[in-house]
Amino acid sequence: MTEQEIITRYFSRHSADAGVEIGIGDDGAVVRPPKSSRLVITSDTLNEGVHFAPGCKPGDLGYKVLAVNLSDLAAMGAAPLWASLNLSLADAEHVWLEGFSQGLFQLADRYGVRLIGGDVVRGPLSVSLYMVGFLEPDLMLTRSGARPGDFIYVSGTIGDAAMGVKLRDGIQHRKMAKADHEYFTLRLNRPEPKVNLGQEIVSCASAAIDISDGLLSDLHQILLMSEVGAQIELDQIPLSKAMRRQLKTDKDWHVVLTGGDDYELMFTVCPEHQDAIEMISEKTACPTRCIGRITQGKGIELSRSGQSFSLPDKLGFDHFS
Ligand code: ADP
Ligand code: MG
Repeated sequence: MTEQEIITRYFSRHSADAGVEIGIGDDGAVVRPPKSSRLVITSDTLNEGVHFAPGCKPGDLGYKVLAVNLSDLAAMGAAPLWASLNLSLADAEHVWLEGFSQGLFQLADRYGVRLIGGDVVRGPLSVSLYMVGFLEPDLMLTRSGARPGDFIYVSGTIGDAAMGVKLRDGIQHRKMAKADHEYFTLRLNRPEPKVNLGQEIVSCASAAIDISDGLLSDLHQILLMSEVGAQIELDQIPLSKAMRRQLKTDKDWHVVLTGGDDYELMFTVCPEHQDAIEMISEKTACPTRCIGRITQGKGIELSRSGQSFSLPDKLGFDHFS
């Protein structure tokens, strides 16, 4: 297969539309942003052996490279528009490319994302996606807007994907039901980016981040950028039934507190906007839960059933630490 064949056969699915004057096929794409909007740009890379294991299903990989970028846009409160895909492949295999592009377009079609370009090269397996979304005038979510007294919310359930990583890597030895094993693996491989939730809370949340490196480590980013502290009540952190079955000791909590890959949203809300969050949760069918409060102090205080709970040594994942 030539480069050109790979592009036309697996990736040139979208015809031109109002926003895309020139899509795949020329030296560059030509696009038209919605009137008076601001653009939000994000990119993320997944490397074999670092972000995914050799033998990862191509459909899961295609899905995930888009999901993690959609999650970044959601954390900015942006609506997704366009994506550009950089692929580094050891070989051009039909079964792999077919599965990969199906996983990618399955999620792209759900949110109206248009693939407008990219690159294909030979090399170690690596997939990278560049995304553009837009914000309505005067609205955006950042990490820097949290204020003392704000409530801290998270969406969904926390820690499931990190348990999926432990299972994948063979470092979770406690017995578990097959259905729980499958559930954790699905949460790792097919995270649901909170695209609609992000676009709704943009009008009432003070700060937001997506949970990619771990609950505490991502909370720490909000605290640094907002120059505030936080109190978190462990009993309020939403957990799946499968995760509850795994939590036996204090140490088991570390997977919930520091595990990455959930792609849930964490956001802060001033007391006046709490009712709005409840309505948004219902409207978007996306459960959210208040897990603590922003404080004037520095750092994170954890408590569980009224007792203080020690912070883990490492707050989350870091490629270079
Ligand atoms: P050039 O040699 O000018 O970089 P290419 O031959 O690499 O152009 O790409 C031709 C067209 O195909 C471009 O529009 C490019 O954006 C698009 N393209 C290349 N690879 C991909 C890909 N993996 N997915 C989507 N579009 C791609
Ligand atoms: Mg060119």
